[in-house]
Amino acid sequence: MCRILFGFIALLFSGDLQSQSDSLFIRKIADEVFQHSMAYGNLRVLTKTIGPRLSGTPQTYMAEKWGEEALKVAGADRVYLQQCNIPHWVRGGKDQAAVIMDNDHQLLQVIALGNSVSTKRGGITAPMILINDFEELEQRKNELKGKIVFYNYPFNPNFVNTLFAYFDAVPYRALGPSRAAKYGAVGVVVRSMSSSTDNFPHTGAMVYNDSFPKVPALAVGLQDADKLAALVARNKNPSLYISTNAHTLPDTIGFNVIGEWKGSEFPDQYIVVGGHLDSWDPAEGAQDDGAGCVHSIEVLRALKAVGYKPRHTIRIVLFTDEENRGSGASKYASEAKAKNEKHIFALESDGGGFTPRSFSIGGSPEQISVFRSWLPLLNLYGVTDILTIGAGADVDPLVEAVGAVTGELIPDTQRYFDYHHAGNDVFEKVNKRELELGAINMAALIYLVDKYGL
Ligand SMILES: [Zn+2]
Repeated sequence: MCRILFGFIALLFSGDLQSQSDSLFIRKIADEVFQHSMAYGNLRVLTKTIGPRLSGTPQTYMAEKWGEEALKVAGADRVYLQQCNIPHWVRGGKDQAAVIMDNDHQLLQVIALGNSVSTKRGGITAPMILINDFEELEQRKNELKGKIVFYNYPFNPNFVNTLFAYFDAVPYRALGPSRAAKYGAVGVVVRSMSSSTDNFPHTGAMVYNDSFPKVPALAVGLQDADKLAALVARNKNPSLYISTNAHTLPDTIGFNVIGEWKGSEFPDQYIVVGGHLDSWDPAEGAQDDGAGCVHSIEVLRALKAVGYKPRHTIRIVLFTDEENRGSGASKYASEAKAKNEKHIFALESDGGGFTPRSFSIGGSPEQISVFRSWLPLLNLYGVTDILTIGAGADVDPLVEAVGAVTGELIPDTQRYFDYHHAGNDVFEKVNKRELELGAINMAALIYLVDKYGL
């Protein structure tokens, strides 16, 4: 009898039984989310009632209010705001462009890049030069003076994970304008960073190099980009007309919205879960990053609803200004450092509301193998891999500031860049089930990190 009891106790502490109880608990989280999730409803309000949330617009503040309320409803012990200086770039009207050839002109689908200056009033017209990549830019630097550079760098289709195609192409948007201006170009049009088949132009941040003149910069839709490339291939020498109205106002005030759930054993040790509240302005910012905000809020709601008591303090952080300058992330990290707050883990969702596939983890090989050991518990809900491609921009600064292990939910990437920073990033493109699966995997991971530590 005693031996049987001893055997049972040994089994109780063995990994098998442990993982069985984790598996049951994660099942409970999943049932809770599938049946009672507020993620989809929250996303509807954020996108349809508030809409685009470019830093400094009135929607920035409406979104903060929404976030405070949603975190309270989800059950946060305490909700507070963290003040940040945020950039205030204003688009200022409709961006326009046309290709001009043989006294004819055809309008192009364009959008000015974030942080770009405007053209002079009424726009500018100049000969276009197609440049395939930076190597060609250097080779043809003497031909750029007075021209509008059209960077036609492709979104490489050979990457299975489209994030890599984005990382590969994004320097043309972020740095291309100044690199062309260095050689006398008067404007830049960049092929949209997208794998879509439609013609929506995709905006996004660019950064000027102050050593060179600031030239206006726009993105062009993929169909129109192909049209321009075809003209050049046929030895036509078109000119481009571009007209933009943007300007940058002095920095303004924005807030990270933080909801806290106090830990029972280690109240002074933190686990962060977050997304960013701001979005580019052509659409509703549903995939980028409304989904990440409602994922994070749902983690709190669902874990509370199933009766979980966290050991560490869990902070849901809705970051301000990820898109223009990352000022919300910098502020959160610098405050955490100043207060010497111990952060054991910081998880972000900024890859859309698609079916989850993996988490990307930034940590030591030993820590990464701990995450890998949990995969059998997550497989059923879609996460089958742990990647090590870094975590998102909002949690990244916490590595240096407080030595946090960081993570990012990586949903399926095949459709993300169809919508990213474009006019079609709307609520209707988010699938309720896929969104909920993201929240389930995040809540499960937070439960495991909180329970076992790192
Ligand atoms: Zn984002």
